[in-house]
Formats: sequence, C-alpha cells, structure tokens
Amino acid sequence: MAKRAASTSTNLDTTEVTINSHAAISRVTKMMSIPGKSGEERAIADFITGELKNAGVPESAIQTDSANKKSHLGGQIGNLIVKLPGTVKGPRRLLMGHIDTVPLCVGCRPVRDGNLIRPKDPTTALGGDNRAGACVVLTTALEILKRKLPHPPLTLLWPVQEEVGLVGAKYVNAAKLGNPELSFNWDGGPPDMLVIGATGDFNIEIKVNGIASHAGAHPEDGVNAAAIAALAITDLTRDGWHGLIQKGRHSGTSNIGVISGGDATNVVMSQLQIRAEARSHDPKFRQKIVDQIRKAFEKAARELKNAAGRRGSIEFEATLKYESFKMDLNEPSVEAAKSAMESLGMAPAYRISNGGLDANWMTANGIPTVTMGCGQQSIHTVDETLHIESFLQACHVAMKLATTV
Ligand SMILES: [Zn+2]
Repeated sequence: MAKRAASTSTNLDTTEVTINSHAAISRVTKMMSIPGKSGEERAIADFITGELKNAGVPESAIQTDSANKKSHLGGQIGNLIVKLPGTVKGPRRLLMGHIDTVPLCVGCRPVRDGNLIRPKDPTTALGGDNRAGACVVLTTALEILKRKLPHPPLTLLWPVQEEVGLVGAKYVNAAKLGNPELSFNWDGGPPDMLVIGATGDFNIEIKVNGIASHAGAHPEDGVNAAAIAALAITDLTRDGWHGLIQKGRHSGTSNIGVISGGDATNVVMSQLQIRAEARSHDPKFRQKIVDQIRKAFEKAARELKNAAGRRGSIEFEATLKYESFKMDLNEPSVEAAKSAMESLGMAPAYRISNGGLDANWMTANGIPTVTMGCGQQSIHTVDETLHIESFLQACHVAMKLATTV
C-alpha cells in the first residue's frame, strides 16, 4: 500500500535504531486492515505470532494468558505474551501495545495520503489506535531478531480488550511476564509524549425506586422516580459536585451519563436506572465525590412522600474501574524513555492523562509503565489518521529502549 518509504530521522546517535521504514509502514497498514474489535482479537494475534515465528521465535516462547475468561465480554483469546531471552546482560524490559480496536474500525481499508495513512471509506475509523502501538512492538522485535542485534531480556505484551475498560491489562497474568524492571506502552498520541500518570475512575450504578400509581386517577399515591432523580441531580449541580468539580485544592469530575426508566405516561414512574462515573487523581477525593452523589440521591428519596407518607428508595453501587497512578520522574522507566527520546533529538513532554490507560492496571499489578504515542490522530472517529513520521519515530524510540543497556 505504501508507495514510497519515508525517510528515517537524520539526528540519530546510533545505527541500531534505524529500521526498515518501508517494511514498518506496510506492516502497520496490514495490521490496521485486519478487523479486531475488543473480544475479537484472534486474527490480529495470529498475524503477530506468524510474523514472529517467521523471524525464528520458537512456539514455546509464545503464549496467551486467560484474561478473556475473567472478562465480562468473554472474548476469543487472552493477552499475547512473548518472552525473548537476552543476548546481553541487563534488566528485563517489557514493551506493550493493545491489539483491540473500537468497533468503528472494523472494515477499514487503510490508504496512504501523503504523510498520513487514513481510512479509504468515510464510514470507518482507521484503527491506528492501537494497531500502530502493537506494530511498534512487533517491528522492534522483528528488527532485533532479523538483524541479530544484541539485546537484554525482553517481554512483549499485546493486551486484549483495552477499549472496553482496560480489561486485558487488568487481568494480565503478571507471573508470565518475567519480572520486567522497565516497562513501556504505546497507545494513542504523539511520539514525544510521556504519560507518567492517569486518573482513577469509579463506575456508579444507581437504581431509584419510586412507587407506581395511576397518574390520572391517583397521582398522590405514587412517588415518581424521575422526580427523586431530578432533585438529586439539581442538588449536585448547584453544589458543584456534577461535571468539573473544584473544591479548594481538590479536583475531579463526575457525570450522570445514562438515564433510563418509566413504562407509560399514565403511570407514576416507579423505577429509574442511572449510570454515572466519578474521576479524580486523588483517591480520597474521588471517594468523596462518590459519597456526595450517594447522599444527594438518598436525601432526594427522603424528601418525596406519597399521600400515605411512604417514600421511594435508592440502591447505589460504585465499583472502581481503575486506580489512578503517578510515577516519579526518577522512576527508571521514565528516565529511560526520556533519555531515549532525547538521544534521538526529540523533546519529550510529561503528561498526566485524564483517561484510563492499560498502564493504570500494569502499575497496579506491580509493573510501573510509561505510555508513549506513535502518531495516532483523531482516534475513535472516521477522521482518524496515522502520521507516518511519528509512527517511525516511535519505532526508533522502541528500538533504543529494547537494545540499550
Ligand atoms: Zn488505545
């Protein structure tokens, strides 16, 4: 698909990081054309394992874990894990990039458009998120193997089901990863971005129970679930606990995202379901947001009574989707990623993400992980593109990280 190979950067300080750009571009193009939304990753995993076997990786070094069996989705396969023994001494490092895409990418036909790869059809996204990241990891492994470059022990991890709540990374079998001392993840964004922290997120389910009655004949016998919810949401909004939340030096966000309920206009609404979320980098403050939401709904339920003095009730459930994390700047993986970028003439910028990443769960699973981008733009939309030079730069960074001891 690629008509011409993009030139590699000129300001490299070693030859080891130079890659076959033409091969990398056609590889990523191929990977983006393979359908594989969350839970349906077998085809892309087969492609990756096929390429590795062709490069001489023995079957015994390739495994999958059983993350899919713990997932609410099920799914075809677990995380793909490949361990390569080192040819030189040095701390083991892990390179990773999730292999699922959002459903909008299925059916994509990637085409070259100048400096970009974009989807041919206006109805699909591209899948650069995150086939580009997965390809950075694969390309690095293939270059090292084919050119027999010296390297410390490497663990390659291709997580599944990132787009449906970081499920693969959450349930990864950490015992299979070989205790990496350094860990690097590639996902959406520019190649000089170093994500060293991310927010934590609560998923909230609220069931508002009202009391049904005939809305025309005896509305006074009912308690309207929507009215309870309305009072609660009004309170939260007025008191600054909904949307962007700023209380002194604490901050976070909350969102009432989904409301569903009611059967008919002539019945006082007896039940309403709400799905909401609460985020903050600060775990205590995040819990406080959750508590405020719960209190507002409970207060609203107490406020409304029917003619007989009966009230509705609230069922409230908050589950942690992922914990926040923040790495120190002197964390070995952060320092290694920064100096790899600088040695390639890039100017790395630290970032804390307001969305969750596989790195949230990797860090929670005992493997602090830095996340970098590889040129994906406008992800999850039909305008998604992959910036080729950025993708190649990310490959160079990964080569550097995988080979420098
Ligand atoms: Zn992604």
